[in-house]
Amino acid sequence: MKPLKGERIFTPGPVEIPDRVREVLGRQIIHHRTPEFREAFLETRELFKQLVDCKEENFVFFASSGTGAMEASVLNFFEEGDKVIAVVGGKFGERWAELGKKYRLNVIELEVEWGKSVDPEAVEKLLRENPDCRGVLVQASESSTGAYHDVQVLAQITKDTDTLLVVDAITALGVYNMKPHEWGLDVVVGGSQKAFMLPPGLSMLWFSERAKERLTDRSYYFNVKEELKKQKEGQTAFTPAISLILALRESLSMLLEEGMERVEERYRLISEGMKRAIEALGLSIFPENPSLSLTTVLPPEGVDPEALRREMLRLGVRTAGGQGKLKGKIFRISHMGMDVMDMPVALSALELALRSLGHSFEFGRAVGEYLSAVHPGVKDG
Ligand SMILES: *Cc1c(COP(=O)(O)O)cnc(C)c1O
Repeated sequence: MKPLKGERIFTPGPVEIPDRVREVLGRQIIHHRTPEFREAFLETRELFKQLVDCKEENFVFFASSGTGAMEASVLNFFEEGDKVIAVVGGKFGERWAELGKKYRLNVIELEVEWGKSVDPEAVEKLLRENPDCRGVLVQASESSTGAYHDVQVLAQITKDTDTLLVVDAITALGVYNMKPHEWGLDVVVGGSQKAFMLPPGLSMLWFSERAKERLTDRSYYFNVKEELKKQKEGQTAFTPAISLILALRESLSMLLEEGMERVEERYRLISEGMKRAIEALGLSIFPENPSLSLTTVLPPEGVDPEALRREMLRLGVRTAGGQGKLKGKIFRISHMGMDVMDMPVALSALELALRSLGHSFEFGRAVGEYLSAVHPGVKDG
């Protein structure tokens, strides 16, 4: 049975693309060395500046997936031999450590149990022991476990030191009302196919004034210094991802029209509703401090998450499984790009899948719990 309108995508990247953005993506290409592109590019930069709520224009876009901007962070703000702490509490934390080692940084891995959030005191202690540490590399939202690391609290520790706080915010930017300047973050990385609701292929890299002073000249393609100079004038060093820039202008407009405060509120509501729904089914939420971007679920004893996902997919709902050591142990339902009223689709498929796999629970309960959590007034009305 093929779903009439195609499958619904509840994966933490790529996420579904809104109609307004798809309309832009369907247009004929324009050339990038034209006044038309230049104007659109500068407008996109202006909108991004509003999104990150900063006065300075310290950010560049790259034609790459999110990992490209992670690599750019390692290359542009650190030199060989620099000591850095990588917070490793999931697959993407591992990526920070691998990238650091690849470019011969001196990487200290701060291991965090997968599903837990980093203890700021552990970071503080490690920094005291390593006063020569040049950077802390961390995820805001560790999408592989669904955990949120409180980067705002970490910034309190790093901001009066020589240590840059480098944040992979690939599933946080566009979900949380992030204020990198006000919070004291130093580098923030984003990716198009996550909360920006675009196809993959565009990454964003924001940095602080003090990070700017550290800019190196180690990369050819990912050269932040060169790109910044060009991009502030509406140009790029190489062929930009033209269609994705035009689409980003649209999705940034959507986010700013809703307002980042309300965007975060929407995701918080979804997150709380999902938690109530999941627990009502007798399943549990895996991370201790869940990111608002996704719900990571530990299935009940005897239910194979991969079988559950297959069953849900048969019903037209695509979810994500576990990665690395969580493979076959958990499954993940993304909220990114979703409206409050989209989630019952995923929950309905989950209930049907659980029932067909023989898990016993009160049928319809998850959807009911979710709806009364997100629309508390309706019950009384
Ligand atoms: C998706 C993701 C990445 C990797 O991004 P790619 O676009 O696949 O390169 C990195 N970090 C986090 C937290 C992510 O969710």
